[in-house]
Amino acid sequence: TAAAAAIERLVRDIPDFPKPGILFKDISPLLADHDGFRAVVDGLAAAGRGPDGTVVVDKVVGMEARGFILAAPVALALGVGFVPVRKAGKLPAATHQVSYDLEYGTASLELHRDALAPGDRVLVVDDVLATGGTARATLALVGRCGAEAVGMAVLIELAFLAGREALDGLPLTALAVS
Ligand code: IMP
Repeated sequence: TAAAAAIERLVRDIPDFPKPGILFKDISPLLADHDGFRAVVDGLAAAGRGPDGTVVVDKVVGMEARGFILAAPVALALGVGFVPVRKAGKLPAATHQVSYDLEYGTASLELHRDALAPGDRVLVVDDVLATGGTARATLALVGRCGAEAVGMAVLIELAFLAGREALDGLPLTALAVS
């Protein structure tokens, strides 16, 4: 697909970032390329449509920070609203909060309590699915609002980290797999 080709051409591997031993997928050259950016937004947005092309989600949720860059144009492409999931302490109104384990220590993500209504169908969008910890916490937050995640879409699935297993069977659209 056009999206897979753009990712192959425009995402670069940066060794030892942010820590020694990590090979970081840097999507910034892809974002800087209009045709590439367009192709991946279209590819991600397809995850919010049914087989006949109708939009099947009410909201697109994106995670800080690179998830925002992708989820916002996906929401516009689908004609639905965008909802941010942020790191703890950033959202101003009442939130739900979920903590999750990192390699060292824990982190927390938050979602405004009134950002999703009970029964809302949600597409979750991020740049990279790695261990799945971020995705799992986000799905828990969506559930705390009484909303229903119907799919997750990412540019790149790092398959060797098995993050897909954190999704409990939720359909995953990965435009590229590493
Ligand atoms: P996980 O929680 O381990 O699945 O990590 C996924 C989160 O970390 C996502 O929000 C990504 O933005 C970020 N992430 C992990 N690895 C990479 C990478 O190689 N490139 C860009 N972001 C990454």
